[in-house]
Amino acid sequence: MMLPRDRKMLDTLVPFVRDRALLLWERATPILDPTPYLLSLPGQVACLRTVAQQQELWAKGRRLTPQGWVVDDPTAIVTRCDGIHRKSNHQTGQALDIALRRRAEVPGRIGEIVWWCSRPVTDGAREVNRLFELVLVEARMLGFSCGCDWSRPDRPHIEIPDDIVI
Ligand SMILES: [Zn+2]
Repeated sequence: MMLPRDRKMLDTLVPFVRDRALLLWERATPILDPTPYLLSLPGQVACLRTVAQQQELWAKGRRLTPQGWVVDDPTAIVTRCDGIHRKSNHQTGQALDIALRRRAEVPGRIGEIVWWCSRPVTDGAREVNRLFELVLVEARMLGFSCGCDWSRPDRPHIEIPDDIVI
């Protein structure tokens, strides 16, 4: 199942990546159908981003001083790309962020995002992690590079590397 808002956001990706993302949703369906979750896009900038949107994300946890950017709060950092000197693959429509979302109980509403948890202490959190990992297995098979496999993990992030996009 795919939310109409997610379908619209996927259309901002380059066609090659969008088509693979659509396949990912298709493959995630049998995994998630028996669960209270669906595959979804968190926030408004989970697919294509403008330079301004990337800069806004860059500023999280950082502060601009006369000497340049300094980190104020490492826990608030969400990206290593400032959008200009170092661009994100979100800016070229090659990347998307994915997460599980709880199915809405009220028709017409959307449920909340349920993030993967680095230290799961409840069965519910362990189950979310397990399901998210299963989705990532499918993503890797479709050629996505997964941010969780990077030395500095970016867990919701998946992208098709430059040399594969046609
Ligand atoms: Zn991302």
